[in-house]
Amino acid sequence: MRVVLLGPQGAGKGTQAQRISEKTGAEHISTGDLVRAEIKAGSELGRKIKDYNDRGELVPDEIIIEMAKPYLSETESWLLDGFPRNEAQARALDEALQEIGRDLDWAVALEAPDEELVMRLSGRRQSQATGKIYHVEHDPPPEGGDDKGPFIQREDDAEGAIRRRLEIYHEHTEPLKDYYGEKGILVTVDATRGIPEVTGDVLREMGQPAEGGT
Ligand code: AMP
Repeated sequence: MRVVLLGPQGAGKGTQAQRISEKTGAEHISTGDLVRAEIKAGSELGRKIKDYNDRGELVPDEIIIEMAKPYLSETESWLLDGFPRNEAQARALDEALQEIGRDLDWAVALEAPDEELVMRLSGRRQSQATGKIYHVEHDPPPEGGDDKGPFIQREDDAEGAIRRRLEIYHEHTEPLKDYYGEKGILVTVDATRGIPEVTGDVLREMGQPAEGGT
């Protein structure tokens, strides 16, 4: 199973990718995680891409394509989260797949209105101790529990950067729905529903068994 997961920031791509990966065994490949790992490692590449990440801008296509490509042939079955983000990247993905003689099975688009996304992202906090994600209103970081934090906001979750990321999504990434729609492999899912419901919808749309509500 080879799947790309499309959707604006805050639609829950990372969460859903992780859950679908657990249920299907497909490898979860997140280009955002690759970018953050490179920045954290302080490599030369990391220094080069940090500014783009912090401002909510896209890392240049040739850099992100080179970063993602090795993972595509590493396993048979994967779920790409955050790639492709524009038509040039979608074409590069098609070429890379052609080189290894594989097809894309599905493009899954998660959909939610901008205001909901801004609300979700601006309240998001991540524990530096455990990596767990919280929300200041809906799932506040624990006080005095096992997870002691600190609970930090991602640089690109500041409101200005969120708005910029949504603008880029609408201008460059959303048109990929047509790109994959024309290939007949697009499915769209309402991402405002609960986390287990969205997972169930995605699996059903892809013709996978969607068991239980956890
Ligand atoms: P994400 O966690 O998917 O929101 O990605 C975080 C940041 O990593 C983005 O705002 C970009 O700066 C960079 N990034 C991740 N994936 C891509 C991509 N496919 N193309 C360009 N930049 C990307």
